[in-house]
Amino acid sequence: MSHAVSTVRPVDPELAELLAAEEDLQRDTIRLIASENYVSAAVLAATGSVLTNKYSEGYPTKRYYEGQQNIDRIEQLCIDRAKSLFGADHANVQPYSGSPANLAVYLAFCKPGDTVMGLGLPAGGHLTHGWNVSISGMFFRAVQYGVRKDTHRIDLDEVRALALKERPRLMFAGGTAIPRTIDFAAYAEIAREVGAIFVADIAHIAGLVAAGVHPSPVAHADVVSSTTHKTLRGPRGGLLLCKEGHAKAIDRAVFPGLQGGPHNHTTAGLAVALREAATPEFKSYAAQIIKNAQALAAGLVERGFAVITGGTDNHLVLVDVTSKGVAGKPLAKALDVAGLVCNYNTVPFDPRKPFDPSGIRLGTSAVTSRGMGVAEMAQIAGWIDQVAQAPTDAAVLARVRGEVVEVTRRFPAPGLAI
Ligand SMILES: *Cc1c(COP(=O)(O)O)cnc(C)c1O
Repeated sequence: MSHAVSTVRPVDPELAELLAAEEDLQRDTIRLIASENYVSAAVLAATGSVLTNKYSEGYPTKRYYEGQQNIDRIEQLCIDRAKSLFGADHANVQPYSGSPANLAVYLAFCKPGDTVMGLGLPAGGHLTHGWNVSISGMFFRAVQYGVRKDTHRIDLDEVRALALKERPRLMFAGGTAIPRTIDFAAYAEIAREVGAIFVADIAHIAGLVAAGVHPSPVAHADVVSSTTHKTLRGPRGGLLLCKEGHAKAIDRAVFPGLQGGPHNHTTAGLAVALREAATPEFKSYAAQIIKNAQALAAGLVERGFAVITGGTDNHLVLVDVTSKGVAGKPLAKALDVAGLVCNYNTVPFDPRKPFDPSGIRLGTSAVTSRGMGVAEMAQIAGWIDQVAQAPTDAAVLARVRGEVVEVTRRFPAPGLAI
């Protein structure tokens, strides 16, 4: 039992039970959700610390509250580490998460109704890049680019043509289901040509960028936005990096433009995560994430799955599963029963509906945090195939579930009691 559960139980047994159940779930399943990870015990402890008791509107040494002796130093440490890790002029570590970080970027550079441009959601973009149900698509005039029909990769000629035609104020690169390397330099050139602010959203790949196993946008982008909890393996939060010339606008947009007091416990957890991400061990970790994703993709291709773009350059594998006679949602649900947790996902040019799409999305950040390697990826590909062939066969799901538990026993998850 974890310290958290044993502390909560006497006060709130009902919640303690749920927390304990979640710990079991995270320990005994193979977590393949591409945006998830396991933080270290140190990050978990810092995030769950007394820093949650504080209020500190403002920035280090420029606060609206007293009692900031330690908070100022913690936030400054976090800022310095973010700047150093990514080689950025300026860092703001206060955004509550990735979506507020992006919203702050709009606030810093746009007026309502301005034209903004991003990768469309169905092609792998994020809601906050101008999709119509998001505030970014409602308050701004969003134009969206896609991927090529033949390669399912981003077509920079299309991006350029659209940018020249629409002259966006803001141009986003990045997304949630892009399995290939993003050419930030090419985006930057297009943005320069049309006079747009170029925002590289590296929420998914921040850990890979930090480790140098994905090209960094920092030299190319006006602003880099990110979450802190995906491949970067920090607490849930957001991060903005920018050139010195944009520092004031970004800081003002985050506070007081969008948010009140920063979440100091999150800042502390992020500071620890950034220190961890600067180590040689993290570099090997990030390289292994990619090796594992490539092994998983290869294992699936071998078994007749249609892996989008044929493979991956990062942590993410997007699979059209309909060639196996099953759709994404029922497969994701069957996999969940079998202890393999992923999400159903649209694939490019998906003929099916977004709530019942053709694909599943897999990621290897969490399994790599447990120390799993290419041998386990082959095993996982095999299980996915077995489940895809018999998604309603309770006996198959139960057998796979048992095998999954056995494997998880050999790979203790960071931050979880064994
Ligand atoms: C996850 C993600 C976000 C949003 O992050 P939240 O923390 O969920 O708000 C923004 N952009 C991209 C590309 C993402 O993948």
